[in-house]
Amino acid sequence: MTTRNLFLLPGDGIGPEAMGEVRKIIAYMNEAMNAGFVTDEGLVGGSAYDAHGAAISEADMQKALAADAVLFGAVGGPTWDSVPYEVRPEAGLLRLRKDLQLFANLRPAICYPALASASSLKPELVEGLDILIIRELTGGVYFGEPKEIIDLGNGQKRGIDTQVYDTYEIERIAGVAFEMARTRQNRVCSMEKRNVMKSGVLWNQVVTETHKAKYSDVQLEHMLADAGGMQLVRQPKQFDVIVTDNLFGDMLSDVAAMLTGSLGMLPSASLGAPDAKTGKRKALYEPVHGSAPDIAGKSIANPIAMIASFAMCLRYSFNLVNEADNLEKAIANVLDKGIRTGDIMAEGCKKVGTTEMGDAILAEFKALSI
Ligand code: NAD
Repeated sequence: MTTRNLFLLPGDGIGPEAMGEVRKIIAYMNEAMNAGFVTDEGLVGGSAYDAHGAAISEADMQKALAADAVLFGAVGGPTWDSVPYEVRPEAGLLRLRKDLQLFANLRPAICYPALASASSLKPELVEGLDILIIRELTGGVYFGEPKEIIDLGNGQKRGIDTQVYDTYEIERIAGVAFEMARTRQNRVCSMEKRNVMKSGVLWNQVVTETHKAKYSDVQLEHMLADAGGMQLVRQPKQFDVIVTDNLFGDMLSDVAAMLTGSLGMLPSASLGAPDAKTGKRKALYEPVHGSAPDIAGKSIANPIAMIASFAMCLRYSFNLVNEADNLEKAIANVLDKGIRTGDIMAEGCKKVGTTEMGDAILAEFKALSI
């Protein structure tokens, strides 16, 4: 039987509550499908700081590096607002992204038909929306050097950030986008600002060359990132896969996210390069939301973003495509039945807590898996 190693990092606040619902799905898959998941669990964020004085311990970092995939809940909260900067809860997530070299951030924006009226756009613009934003995560202006504030000596200061991309960084993120597109509608839209940025000119060239060399079966379009932002709110369903840099991706993925309703619905994946020997990618899956300290411990958090992150894990780390499809369908079916946590509650629907939502999704998943 295949062994699939999962390292769970539930984190703080609602992280452990949401992760609990994923654990039930893992247990079911092991029992009924012989899925072979072997799970281990560690601490990250504030809980790791309390136990080890670090945002993640070295032992847990080693486990994350050795695992086939990491499932991450959420970190942070007011308890740790005044801990030293280097060990603040978010440092745990940043360390994981850096050491696992997770350069590709995948953020799907899916609008479940049952939630179309919760979007800030007209329902007909978002109903059935299914786009995937791929953001370069380890390069660009957030990391480029020089990065400093210098004193100009005349009462003025200068803040400097450097937008920098090398060919290989653009090639590998473009490769991920084209490969993902092949599993979807086979269309990629690359966004940059080649009209005003040299890094945008290079981005455009390298994406075009990568496409020509290896992925000419995929339909490629280029769009200026500002125009892309407009199109995302004007006619979002025109897109399939969008690939863009770290800065534009940060903003465009948040815009796309809000087309779909609530933070409690949004999954994400961060992938590294395939291992030369095994072909496996390092990967971390996490909901987009934070630790929601305002509702933590009340068992009212929406676990859908965490469960949908696990569905991405099934798809991208283990190639369990049918199972991933069924889990996503189970979420859609539960929403169709009018079952809602508080954050997505609507008139005429049944309000449930975290556990009931998890149980309802598991029951649908079981029914679809038979
Ligand atoms: P948040 O995402 O935690 O919460 C924003 C709002 O959305 C809150 O009202 C919260 O109750 C609600 N919400 C979020 N997820 C929900 C869910 N699953 N179900 C129902 N409601 C949900 O963002 P915030 O309040 O800005 O930050 C809280 C803490 O989380 C901070 O310490 C922040 O640094 C941290 N944070 C962590 C991550 C991460 O771990 N990746 C991401 C963002 C924020």
